[in-house]
Amino acid sequence: MAATAKSSRKPARAAPRGKARGEERDLIARLSRGAVICAEGYVFELERRGYLQAGAFVPEVLFDHPEVVEQLHLDFVHAGSDVTQALTYYVHREKLRVIGREKDLVPMNRAALKIAKSVARRTGTLFAGDLCNTNIYDPADKGSIKEVERIFDEQVGWAVEAGVDYFVAETLGWAGEALMALEAIRKHSKVPAVVTFAMHREELTRDGLTPAEACQRLEGAGADVVGLNCHRGPATMMPLLKQIRRAVKCHVAALPVPYRTIASQPSFMSLTDPCCGDRRAFPVGLDPFVCTRQEIFDFGREAFALGIRYLGVCCGAGPHHIRALAESLGRHPPASRYSVDMSKHAFFGTDKKIRRIQTDYQDKA
Ligand SMILES: [Zn+2]
Repeated sequence: MAATAKSSRKPARAAPRGKARGEERDLIARLSRGAVICAEGYVFELERRGYLQAGAFVPEVLFDHPEVVEQLHLDFVHAGSDVTQALTYYVHREKLRVIGREKDLVPMNRAALKIAKSVARRTGTLFAGDLCNTNIYDPADKGSIKEVERIFDEQVGWAVEAGVDYFVAETLGWAGEALMALEAIRKHSKVPAVVTFAMHREELTRDGLTPAEACQRLEGAGADVVGLNCHRGPATMMPLLKQIRRAVKCHVAALPVPYRTIASQPSFMSLTDPCCGDRRAFPVGLDPFVCTRQEIFDFGREAFALGIRYLGVCCGAGPHHIRALAESLGRHPPASRYSVDMSKHAFFGTDKKIRRIQTDYQDKA
């Protein structure tokens, strides 16, 4: 299967910074030719770099250090992302209300869109708008439904004004909320819509559907790409992805978190660390569970062989994970110039120039 994935895809051309890859901006056309890689997980990486607070997870960094956001977009493109996704995750009315910054709603959305658009146009990557979980959706509360509608409508509006190539609606736990996000996208734009659920410990959406059923409904309502992102690592997302792939005809998306989730703790929020009294590891104690590059490489191979073409890594992803994903598809992004080569290593190298005094010692190193 690995050989098929490798031989049937042309490696993406390595684009020097500042020069577009010359690809068209149609997501569906790109998917019809092969995989599209979308780096997500911006808030976790910015948190690790010291520019975003874990907990609320609102990207105030858009105002405080816009250059850091721009650089992270560039780092992900350098590592192989085909998409520059605007960092409007949690830049919605409800989240800004929680942190007391509702007045910054419009300029913060515009800042995220402007930065992402600039990177996308410079690098020839697709420019994606982003909608996410509102955290207030309650099917039994008409007031909340109205507010969710307002949140989606206004964020779609700003993204349409900015000229996004397509929309992502992500990390959704309710099928009802996902359908509302899709409806807002369809009401205000004609660009493609990628809609993905984030599954918690339960293998059902919050409104009781299997992910396969929920994705079927989205496909029926006009979503172009459906699938899963966030919450689950490769091992516990894969079984659900197989069900979704069988259930729908449209393209499928898979963007796991890069953590070693297990059957008894299938979401990264449920992982506990035995080293620390079995305390919840989420969100800032997840380091011992981080997937290796090889694990992400293997996930990319397996997902692509299943026919899943919209691929990425969500919260916890670093550029090295995106590079591993790109390489799993036989690609050679600019960052691959620096992919590991142990032949010149001081102890484990095979190069003739390495002294035997070192290589003879490798079993003791
Ligand atoms: Zn995520």
